Amino acid sequence: MQLLDGKKYSDELVSEYKKIVSDLDILLSIIQVGNNISSDIYIRNKIKYCESVGVKVNLYHIDNGDEKSLKELINNLNNDSKVTGIILQSPIPGIDFNKMVELIDSSKDVDGLTKNNIYNLYINNETIIPCTVKGIIKLLEHYKISLKGANVCIIGRSNIVGKPLALALENRDATVTLCHSKTKDLHLYTKNADIVISAVGIPKLITGDYVKNGVICVDVGINRINNSLCGDFDYESVKDKALFITPVPGGVGPMTVSMIVDNLIAMKKNSYI
Ligand code: NAD
Repeated sequence: MQLLDGKKYSDELVSEYKKIVSDLDILLSIIQVGNNISSDIYIRNKIKYCESVGVKVNLYHIDNGDEKSLKELINNLNNDSKVTGIILQSPIPGIDFNKMVELIDSSKDVDGLTKNNIYNLYINNETIIPCTVKGIIKLLEHYKISLKGANVCIIGRSNIVGKPLALALENRDATVTLCHSKTKDLHLYTKNADIVISAVGIPKLITGDYVKNGVICVDVGINRINNSLCGDFDYESVKDKALFITPVPGGVGPMTVSMIVDNLIAMKKNSYI
């Protein structure tokens, strides 16, 4: 079994990004609504990584439920030519997230969630795609894992991970099965898959008897148990059957953060993957 070491790869990307970013003037705006401990941690990690490669970051705070101020802020950032990209950190208590995301200029939509960017993904003319999706693809590419013709089982159909990931992998010629909370006999699908990607948020949901020998496991789940983190895979029972597995922490999470910079560079240069 070999680790798909997202932390190591993400650290390696720093020097590459530093060189590229030094020639570009990149400014990221992050908007946080209310207070949320998990969001604080995610935002801190995003700022730390961005600043380590020379991307400038401005963080804005809006009160819970203050939709009027949020709309004004998004409008101002859209119209500010110095702003390269905008992240609206989820959750935004008391305000409809999808409605607010749609107000972001799609050319500044770092998370790739506006209709325009999702449509481009849908028609296989990708522009900005969600950072977790891009991070998984880059990590698999880095370890020379081919997606062409691979049977991939994705568990979880969220708008931010499962659904766009299914489209992006189909665009790369994988055969994708998208499973979710209502899927009957989940193990029938996971057991057939060359690559199993879980984005559910249930600790140790996928045990060794759910996967075949030689499987590649990508664990998107981040679960907190007694102050420590674990993923959706039961690492101990899966690791002896897996050819590759992403650790949690240190797998998909750091790749997601790196892809913020990747997307910002693409936006600034107007050149997409
Ligand atoms: P979500 O929380 O919006 O939805 C969970 C999905 O899991 C749903 O589609 C649901 O149908 C499915 N599901 C629930 N129970 C199931 C079951 N028993 N069997 C099969 N499917 C089931 O999803 P999300 O926002 O994509 O987050 C999922 C997990 O991924 C969370 O732990 C989150 O913290 C993590 N996450 C990690 C990153 C990262 O960068 N590593 C990024 C985003 C999300």
